[in-house]
Amino acid sequence: MVSTSGKATLTRHRHDFRLPIFDFRLKQICILDHKSRIEYQQFHRHAPMSRPSATDPDNSNGKRQKRGVPEGLWIQCDGCKATVYRKQIQQSLYCCPECNHHFYVPAKARIAQLLDEESFEEWFTNLLPKDPLGFVDKKPYKDRLKEEQKKTGLTDACVIGKGYMRGRPLVLGLTDSAFIMGSMGSVVGEKLTRGIEQATELKLPLVIVSGSGGGARMHEGILSLMQMGKVSAALGRFHDAGGLFISVLTNPTMGGVAASFASLGDITLAEPKALVGFAGPRVVAATVKQELPEGFQTSEFLLKMGFVDRIVDRQHMRTEIARIIDYCGA
Ligand SMILES: [Zn+2]
Repeated sequence: MVSTSGKATLTRHRHDFRLPIFDFRLKQICILDHKSRIEYQQFHRHAPMSRPSATDPDNSNGKRQKRGVPEGLWIQCDGCKATVYRKQIQQSLYCCPECNHHFYVPAKARIAQLLDEESFEEWFTNLLPKDPLGFVDKKPYKDRLKEEQKKTGLTDACVIGKGYMRGRPLVLGLTDSAFIMGSMGSVVGEKLTRGIEQATELKLPLVIVSGSGGGARMHEGILSLMQMGKVSAALGRFHDAGGLFISVLTNPTMGGVAASFASLGDITLAEPKALVGFAGPRVVAATVKQELPEGFQTSEFLLKMGFVDRIVDRQHMRTEIARIIDYCGA
C-alpha cells in the first residue's frame, strides 16, 4: 500500500503525484502515491482516537494507547526498505511481499509452517533453566531468564518434539533467536540430546531448524560449552544407527551452534541470505586484517563453498524436507 523508492527526495515536478511524507515512527521520509497518501492520512486520523479493546491482550491493563501508529503495525523491510503491514508479512510466512526478504519467525509459527496442523507433540517441557554460576552481567541471569520467558512465552531457547510433515512422522527441534539470541545453554543442549536419542529409538528422521545468533550461552560458562560435544555425540550415535538428520540454517546461525549440531546434517538446507558462521564478519575482519570476500558468511557464500547443500525459500521448505525424507526412505 505504501511504497518507498529508496532514498527519498523532496524535489518533485509539477505533475508528479508521488508525494513525500515524513513518517514519525520510522523517522524517515516515505514517498507515497496519491491513493496511498489518502489512506495513510485516514489511518493516522483514526488510529490515535481508537480506544484499546478490553479483549486485546496487549491492552489488558486498560491503559490508553499511545498516540500515532500502534506499535509494530507497520514495519520496514530490511531487504527493500518498503513499509509493509505486519499482518501482511505474517500471512506470507514472515516474508516481505515486495522482495521476499525472510524475517525472523517465532518458534510456534515455524512449527505451524512446517508441520501438519496440530500434529506437534512437545517433549521435555519440564526442563527449566537454572543459574548455577550466579552469573551477573547487566542484570542477574536469573532475572534475565524470567524476562525472556515472559517476552517469548518459551521456557528456554529450544523447542523439540514429534510431529507430522505431510503425513510423515519426524522429530522436529528448533532454536528461537528471540530467547537470549537462541544461545545454547544446558537446557537447549539437554533437550536436543534427549530429542536425538528419542529419534534414534523411534527410528524417525530428525529435522533441526537453527536460529541462534548467540552460540554457546556465556551465562552458564563451561556448562554451555560442553553441550556442543554432548549434542554432537548424540548425533554421532544417531548417524551410526542409520538415522537421517536434516539441518536447516536460518538467520542467524552462529558460534557454538554453527560449530556443533547445525553443521552436522546429512543434508544441510539454508534460508536465503541467512547469516551463518562462527564469529561475526567484523570480528573476523579485525582478526585476519584482510578484506572479506563479498557476501561472506551468507547462505549463498556457503553454498558456493560446499558447506550448504541447497538454499530453499521458506515457501518451499516443507515440501523440500518432505521430499528429502521420501528420497532417503527414512
Ligand atoms: Zn522487502
